[in-house]
Amino acid sequence: MTDSYAALYRRSIDDPDGFWTEQARRIDWEHPFDQVCDTSRPPFARWFVGGRTNLCHNAVDRHAATRPGDTALIWVSSEVGQERVYTFSELKDEVEVMAAMLAGQGVRAGDRVLIYLPMIPEAAFAMLACARLGAIHSVVFGGFASHALANRIDDAEPVLVVSADAGSRNGRVVPYKPLLDEAIRLAAHKPAKVLMIDRGLSAFERVADRDLDHAALRERLWGARVSCEWLPSDAISYTLYTSGTTGRPKGVQRDVGGYAVALATSMAQIYDGRAGETFFSTSDIGWVVGHSYIVYGPLIAGMATLMYEGTPVSPDAAVWWRLVEQYRVTVMFSAPTAVRVLKKQDPACLTRHDLSSLRALFLAGEPLDEPTARWIADAIGKPVIDNYWQTETGWPILTLARGVEPAQPKFGSPGVPMPGYRVQLLDERTGAVLEAPHQKGLLAIAYPLPPGCMQTVWRDDERFVRTYWSSVPGQQVYSTFDWALRDEDGYYFILGRSDDVINVAGHRLGTREIEECIAGHPAVAEVAVVGVADALKGQVAMAFAVLKDPARAATPQEALVLEGEILKRVDQQLGAVARPSRVRFVQLLPKTRSGKLLRRAIQAVCEQRDPGDLITLDDPAALQQIRELVSGAG
Ligand code: AMP
Repeated sequence: MTDSYAALYRRSIDDPDGFWTEQARRIDWEHPFDQVCDTSRPPFARWFVGGRTNLCHNAVDRHAATRPGDTALIWVSSEVGQERVYTFSELKDEVEVMAAMLAGQGVRAGDRVLIYLPMIPEAAFAMLACARLGAIHSVVFGGFASHALANRIDDAEPVLVVSADAGSRNGRVVPYKPLLDEAIRLAAHKPAKVLMIDRGLSAFERVADRDLDHAALRERLWGARVSCEWLPSDAISYTLYTSGTTGRPKGVQRDVGGYAVALATSMAQIYDGRAGETFFSTSDIGWVVGHSYIVYGPLIAGMATLMYEGTPVSPDAAVWWRLVEQYRVTVMFSAPTAVRVLKKQDPACLTRHDLSSLRALFLAGEPLDEPTARWIADAIGKPVIDNYWQTETGWPILTLARGVEPAQPKFGSPGVPMPGYRVQLLDERTGAVLEAPHQKGLLAIAYPLPPGCMQTVWRDDERFVRTYWSSVPGQQVYSTFDWALRDEDGYYFILGRSDDVINVAGHRLGTREIEECIAGHPAVAEVAVVGVADALKGQVAMAFAVLKDPARAATPQEALVLEGEILKRVDQQLGAVARPSRVRFVQLLPKTRSGKLLRRAIQAVCEQRDPGDLITLDDPAALQQIRELVSGAG
C-alpha cells in the first residue's frame, strides 16, 4: 500500500497514459503497445493499440510455467456432492484439451462459441479454451430457457455450442439439452456442432452429425498442445447479453488487452487479492461477475478461484463458511440477496467455522440495504464492501479500493469512483453537471470509458451510440441509467434505475422482454410488467394483463388457471429467472392520452407510494383497479 486512494484516482484522471502504462505491466504482452488509448473516434475507445496479448496466457500459462503445482481452480458442488481441485498445470492441460476439441471442429480466431452450461469446471475450461484460440465466447446463463437462448443464438451466430445434459438446483435435476434442442429448432441460425458434456444426470438423445461426445474427444485428444493465439489488444474476447429497454437483449462486447489490464488492476487495487491465495465468488458464469471474478480476474492475479454449484443453504447455511475455512479464502464476493437468504437461517451457521483467513466480503449486483450490510458485517466480523458496476463496465465503477487504503464504508453507499472512471451526475432536464452535494442526477461517465469496459454492442455500433451516449446531445457521456447523488465526502448513493430494467435477486431483467413473452399468450391483448420492491429479492416482476376476452378470468379459479398458464409460458420461453411473482388481470392499463404506458405509476401504486403527477393519465379507473388489486380489495 504505497499510495492513497485520492492520489491514485487523481493520477488516473490527470495522467491516464502514465497510469495505465504502469498498470499494463501487470500482464504479459507478446508485443508491446504503442498507444495507450486511441480516442480518435468517440465514443469508441481502443486501449493499448498495437499491443498483442492473450487472456488465457495471462490467466493460466504464465502461472503454470512458474508455479505449476499451485492451486488454480477449486470446484465444489453441494448439488451433486463433489469437489475437485486443479493446479495451474492441470488447468492448463484441461484448457488445452478443450481447445484441441474446438480447433478440431474448425473453430478459429473470431468465430463465436456459445456456452450454455451449469457451474461445472468445464464451463471455465471452455471459456479459457476460446480465449486461447481467439474465439469469441458468448455464455448464456443456464437459467434462461429456449426462447431467450434462441434469440442469443441468432444474434451471436455461433459455429459451435458447448452444453451439458443438465444442471441441478436445490437437489432437483434441471435438464439443459431439451431446452437447447428446442432453442436450435427455433433459431434461424443453426450451429454446426454441439459439444455435449454428459454429467450422467439426465439421459438425452444425440442429434446425428451435430452432437459431439465431450468425454470421448477428451480421451482421444488428451495431452494435445495448442498454443495461445496472440491477439491484437482490441480483438474481441467475448460477448455477453444483457437486458435493456427493448425486448432484444444487447450483446455487450469486450476486448482482450484492456480487459486483462483492468481486471489485473482491480484485483490488486480494489479486491486486494494476492497470488497464491483463494478468491471465492458465489456468482454464476452466466453473469458478468462470473466472467470477471470467477474466471478471468482471480486467475490473472495468480489466485485460486473457487467455483461453486449450489445454493447458500444446502446442505445447510454454513456451507460457504465451511469452504472459506477449508480453502483459506481471503476474498469473497457475493450478492445482497444471498445474504438476505442467509439472514433467515440459524445464525450459529455463520460462526461455526474459522473465518480468520477472510479479509473482506464484497457484495454487488443490486442495492445493498443498510440492515443487510450491518447484519452480515456483525455476523462474520469482517469488512463488508458494496460495489456498484454493470455488465457494460466489466469491473467496479464505485466502491472502496481495499488494496490501496482501508477507507471507512458508509452504509447505503457503494463508495467512490474507481481509477479511470470520470463519474458525473447530470441534471435530468438540462444535462448540466451537478457539482453541489446531495443533488439527484443521472449517473454518467465522461468519455473515454476506462479499459475493460464494453467496446460496443455486438454488430451494432449505432445501437451502442444511441443507447449509451445520447443522453446529453453534443456531449460524450456514457449513461448508466441509474439515478444517484453524492454527499459532501464524495461518496455516491444509487437511487434506482431511470429505465425499464429491473433487478431481481441481482439478476438484471428487461420488463419488455417479459412483456413480449406474455403478450404472445393467445388470451392476452396487452400487458405491463413492472418491478416491485421485495424484502428478499430486492425487486420482483409483477404483470398486469388485459385479456382479449375478460370472460376467460371471470371467476377466481379461472383467473388462477390462466395465471398458471402464463407463468408456465414465461418459464418455458425465458426461464424461471424471469417469472413474475403474479399476473393480475385488469380491464385496462394506465396510459397517457398519447398511448404511452405509465409503468412508473403502476410501480408506485404496487409499492403503495404516491404515483406523483398524473396529469397525463388518460383514464384514472385503470390505476384505481390496480390499487384495489394490490391492496387485496380486488
Ligand atoms: P448488471 O449489468 O446485471 O450487473 O446490472 C447493473 C445494474 O444493477 C446497475 O445499473 C444498477 O442498477 C444495479 N446495481 C449493481 N450493483 C449495484 C450496487 N452495488 N448498488 C446499487 N445498484 C446496483
